[in-house]
Amino acid sequence: MILIVDDAPENIISLKKVLEKNDFEVDTASSGEEALRKILKKSYVLIILDVQMPGMDGFEVAEAISGYSRAKETAIIFLSAASANVHLITKGYSSGGLDYISKPVDMNILLLKVKTFYRIYEQSRALNEMQTTLREEIEFRKEAERKKDEFISIASHELKTPLTTINGYIQLLERSLDKNDLSTAKIRLQKVQNQVEKLSLLVADLLDISKIESGKLKFNMKYFSVDPLLDQLLEEMQQANPQVKIIRKGNVGTEIYGDEMRIEQVLINFITNAIKYSPDSEELHVTSTKCGNDVYFSVRDFGIGMAEEHQKSIFDKFYRIEETSERFQGLGIGLYICKEIIERHHGKIGVKSTLGEGSEFYFYIPTSSPEKDQN
Ligand code: ADP
Repeated sequence: MILIVDDAPENIISLKKVLEKNDFEVDTASSGEEALRKILKKSYVLIILDVQMPGMDGFEVAEAISGYSRAKETAIIFLSAASANVHLITKGYSSGGLDYISKPVDMNILLLKVKTFYRIYEQSRALNEMQTTLREEIEFRKEAERKKDEFISIASHELKTPLTTINGYIQLLERSLDKNDLSTAKIRLQKVQNQVEKLSLLVADLLDISKIESGKLKFNMKYFSVDPLLDQLLEEMQQANPQVKIIRKGNVGTEIYGDEMRIEQVLINFITNAIKYSPDSEELHVTSTKCGNDVYFSVRDFGIGMAEEHQKSIFDKFYRIEETSERFQGLGIGLYICKEIIERHHGKIGVKSTLGEGSEFYFYIPTSSPEKDQN
């Protein structure tokens, strides 16, 4: 927007008319004091400033606004009878630019100058925006680097814990064998096996992450029966976690189209999390059902739950809820992998949760192959 400052109303009217005809937005002030008040409140691209005004003259206005941060980018065109004085004040003025036009004003020259200032203004704004974007990009790199370092440190810790436990059990196992105590040896061997399994799951998750990043996560899509898969899986999970009662609800009843191992991986992840984040609860519910052309699965727990603000982000890579991250170990990649798997099945994944009352993780996927639907 342009501000015209002139004490003669007829000058204001004619300048305003010409500028508005050329699609410029115009504001006016009839004295230096009024101009200052307006400049304090609003940013102008250009001020057309009459030098000779009663009260505050044009130079005084220019000097006064040279200190305003709002006017940092503002250019000024003086309307002056004498050009020499204009050069005097340009020294101390570091604004968006200064120029002058002798009176009586030649409208063509004024328009040319106004257009030039506007072009410079647009260009410097574009440059500023580019600079801001570049700065943000650099920050975002830096941030990615920090997250990567943090991830490496948590991942090393997560890998080291089962390794240390394995080491300990192997020493105990050796002692049991020395004593020929085979029943204790068997129990210890089972503990080693559990830890090895934990390690393999962790390594598999890490490999999946790198496959997702490089677009190489492959799916073996075919029709399969999901009900027996769920029977088998829940039996194994129940055996491994006797402290919770896993209650199964519903049935799908038909075959579904997908990667059997990947769908099982999502269910395992939901159930493992449900157990992990419900240390004091006694049961969890696993529901499966057919819903129109989709199948729906959900795992409901009665654990710590989560506040609404986290519910959108927990499927993001490396996202862990800070308040509970020390109490529960993890890498924050399981749900990210689940989301990728479900989205690659053209499905939808989500969570409903109340802090302190528990969570319900669910997903839908279409029962049949998209190609089949098209035929
Ligand atoms: P991890 O459990 O290894 O941190 P996930 O990707 O599986 O990683 O989960 C991401 C985060 O979501 C967890 O850190 C936890 O804060 C939250 N979360 C996941 N499942 C549950 C659940 N059943 N109840 C409460 N919070 C959960």
